[in-house]
Amino acid sequence: MSERYDYVIIGGGSAGSVLGNRLSEDGNRSVLILEAGRSDYAWDLLIQMPAALPFPSGKSLYDWKYESDPEPYMGGRRIKHARGKVLGGSSSINGMIYQRGNPKDYERWGADSGMETWDFAHCLPYFKRLENALAADPDDEYRGHDGPIKLERGPAKNPLFQAFFNAAVEAGYSRTPDVNGYRQEGFGPFDKHVYKGRRMSASRAYLHPVKHRKNLTIKTRAFVKDIDINGDRADGVTYQRNGKMHHVTAGEVILAGGAINTPQLLQLSGVGDPEHLRSVGVEPKVNLPGVGENLQDHLETYIQYSCPQPVSQQPNLKLSRMPWIGLQWILGRKGPAATNHFEGGGFVRSNETVDYPNLMFHFLPVAVRYDGQKAETEHGFQVHVGPMYSDARGSLKIRSNNPKEHPSMVYNYLSTEQDKREWVEAIRVSREIMAQPAMKPYNSGEISPGPSVQTDEEILDWVAKDAETALHPSCTAKMGPESDPMAVVDPKTMKVHGLDNVRVVDASAMPYVTNGNIHAPVLMLAEKAADLILEKDPLKPLQIDYYRHGVDPADAGTVTG
Ligand SMILES: Cc1cc2nc3c(=O)[nH]c(=O)nc-3n(C[C@H](O)[C@H](O)[C@H](O)COP(=O)(O)OP(=O)(O)OC[C@H]3O[C@@H](n4cnc5c(N)ncnc54)[C@H](O)[C@@H]3O)c2cc1C
Repeated sequence: MSERYDYVIIGGGSAGSVLGNRLSEDGNRSVLILEAGRSDYAWDLLIQMPAALPFPSGKSLYDWKYESDPEPYMGGRRIKHARGKVLGGSSSINGMIYQRGNPKDYERWGADSGMETWDFAHCLPYFKRLENALAADPDDEYRGHDGPIKLERGPAKNPLFQAFFNAAVEAGYSRTPDVNGYRQEGFGPFDKHVYKGRRMSASRAYLHPVKHRKNLTIKTRAFVKDIDINGDRADGVTYQRNGKMHHVTAGEVILAGGAINTPQLLQLSGVGDPEHLRSVGVEPKVNLPGVGENLQDHLETYIQYSCPQPVSQQPNLKLSRMPWIGLQWILGRKGPAATNHFEGGGFVRSNETVDYPNLMFHFLPVAVRYDGQKAETEHGFQVHVGPMYSDARGSLKIRSNNPKEHPSMVYNYLSTEQDKREWVEAIRVSREIMAQPAMKPYNSGEISPGPSVQTDEEILDWVAKDAETALHPSCTAKMGPESDPMAVVDPKTMKVHGLDNVRVVDASAMPYVTNGNIHAPVLMLAEKAADLILEKDPLKPLQIDYYRHGVDPADAGTVTG
């Protein structure tokens, strides 16, 4: 006998967790979440302990372990792409950095045809609904104070952070009290998805508190193979669990598998470019050539330095220290393991042609790559940097009709003149900051890329060889009106064009990547989508001023980078 639910949500990740909560809130509708990964158990230190963040990536137990095709502008390198395969999705394995993006990102969304209800004024109330910004002034009207996502800030107490912020000011950039508040541009401590020393994932915030609801069912280790589409409707979905195939009937199907899995599943189900689908043995059902196109991401590098003073976190990377650090965390959720260490950074406009920051810096008081590979130095630190709204575009395509085969994807990083120029600027701005007097007592030399990398060509060559993804793939089923042949999702209903009861709510639906880490934007999108799906009155747009370079009165005489 087939089961039936009003809403079947594919993927219990960031967006899926928000939807699972909001759609089951009034108790009237039955909601099923099908999650391919296992549960995010409270005992699982690699998920719950913030400083364990490098460990889940690359492990099949937590990670889908995607890889790009050879990148044509990076000497044919394949770039590894981690994606959370566990309840909470990527929010259970991510870096926990909380960035809304710049208000102008949403003005850009809202300026596209049919997207007027996605401008900043319409999105801001949903950011406020999702967050509880614990460090913000309770009267701060830019920030939310009672949402499910509890956010701690910084504290960025390590002297290296202070030196970095001071150096940024010496280099002519500004401080800002809150990059998610009135003013993003500038340097300061960052908010993080960490609460009381534990990861504040989307599932911890949205699903665990409500999993007792009778109308909410969460099935983990349930891998969805395809959506059964008949004409302009989906009957339900087929999934594999414990080695058996199951069919579930759905009033509505909502794809929330993320920017890679969602277009993959749409294509497997016959939604995409008919010619491509036929070539891989899939019967085309809905002609939507935009599925899998418009792929966007952030590429980043680490610029690493050695430090002559014994102030960095480098010694804590030693295996011999880990038991003690782990014990402090287990006993009291305290110590170096209770933070993600991405406690501060900044946003910069690297040239005068951009009107809002195109570079983001994360500062770390330790020199270590995301995969845990540490720099050979007793003490060290690093900045992560890269362009934030590159005009490079990639695409994603299934290779066959086998749902277990990873799709082909190419991002075309470094393919455009703008991208290349901004990369050179990114490295030069980083070095300019690190060369300031405030950093002098702490900077005993650049480890990577090192002094041999100086000219534009040398910089680009190093970026092509060394850069990694910042893990923000997005925009592969973009919102836009039906009149746009490359749009996939209706911005007013989140329905896939041409289908009456299939929606997309996750990072794929973004039209453009935002200028920071994208977890908060995905949560916002899902909060807003939940109201659209339930046909609730949307939250009232909040018309509020925000910092705009050159317009803000404080800018008279400001030096820019
Ligand atoms: C290692 C890493 C570090 C990151 N660091 C940060 C950071 O510090 N700050 C930040 O803002 N962003 C960060 N990001 C990005 C951010 O976490 C993601 O963009 C965001 O979580 C995406 O949300 P989503 O809902 O679109 O997809 P996901 O959260 O990835 O959820 C998709 C879910 O769907 C499930 N699924 C997929 N296919 C199927 C299927 N066929 N059947 C059933 N289930 C399926 C997956 O297992 C997953 O649980 C990071 C990402 C990664 C991977």
